[in-house]
Amino acid sequence: MEVAFRHCRNGTLRRPPAYRRQAINEGATKVRKKKLMSQDPSPPIAIRLVNVKKYFKDRDVEALGGVSLEVLRGEFITLIGPSGSGKSTLLELLGDIGDEGGPTDGEISIEGKTPEELRKTRGYGIAFQESTLFPWYRVFENCLLPFRIAKSRIPGEQQVRRIEMLLEMVGLDKKFWSYYPRELSGGMQQRVAIVRALALDPPLLLMDEPFGALDDLTRKSMQMLLLDIWSKTKKTILMVTHSISEACFMSDRVVVLSHRPGRIARIVSIPLDRPRERSMSETKAFARICSMVREALGSGEILEEDGSIKE
Ligand code: ADP
Repeated sequence: MEVAFRHCRNGTLRRPPAYRRQAINEGATKVRKKKLMSQDPSPPIAIRLVNVKKYFKDRDVEALGGVSLEVLRGEFITLIGPSGSGKSTLLELLGDIGDEGGPTDGEISIEGKTPEELRKTRGYGIAFQESTLFPWYRVFENCLLPFRIAKSRIPGEQQVRRIEMLLEMVGLDKKFWSYYPRELSGGMQQRVAIVRALALDPPLLLMDEPFGALDDLTRKSMQMLLLDIWSKTKKTILMVTHSISEACFMSDRVVVLSHRPGRIARIVSIPLDRPRERSMSETKAFARICSMVREALGSGEILEEDGSIKE
């Protein structure tokens, strides 16, 4: 019997109802019981946040006021919220890259590790709005950097093969592989940044508005590309975005944060089929989902025409 866990509104996963557990104990045959016991009943949770708070002492700012969330392995989650609601702070805490240490309170566990352990074991890849490629290295060298920084024991030839495979996956024509970042368009730079984030094959991708600086057409093609990569690689993705339509189009669940101090105002599950097709964003169902997110963001927000929040 499959033990199906369900998402609760507060971001945690609910145990199966008592009647199902009772049925297993009382009614099921020995064989079924044995089969069940041999299965791991716990859902594959990739990220667990328990009442995570962050207070920045130097500026007396309470950035996060207690965030609890469970993310399943392989899930695509977007974080959306007003400016200053702690989205980037949350990503920084997960990646252990903030300059003010870990959470002030609460617990974070990712793939059973603390953020510090995860960072030290190169357990995540990260991408930002700016590609942050090193301007003095060519594309291919930029992509190989994570192996060097990690002092990887993977043989050089295998490293090269992996980067070739990833560059092909993101559709960057071979002729650009020897270019310097400044010679590439914004979209191409982000493709390279994604390759670099995936170089060490981490189970988790953290993305902070990765398409925020791109024009609309490029942004849309990058969204499709990321969805394609996600379906091929089965990574867990946590992506910050300011665009309601981007959040609803791409993710399994949209986590809406409240005004500072950031708390989860609502989690909206996206019932659209996979793979997502661009035409889905033209449907009434999609418009309804977007308006649920917009509503959760509160009426005080100024929205851009494309549904993103004005800074
Ligand atoms: P968002 O990404 O939702 O726009 P941030 O996480 O960047 O929000 O910031 C949340 C709040 O925390 C803001 O008020 C910001 O000024 C503050 N903050 C973020 N990082 C720091 C820091 N390193 N030191 C002091 N305050 C910070």
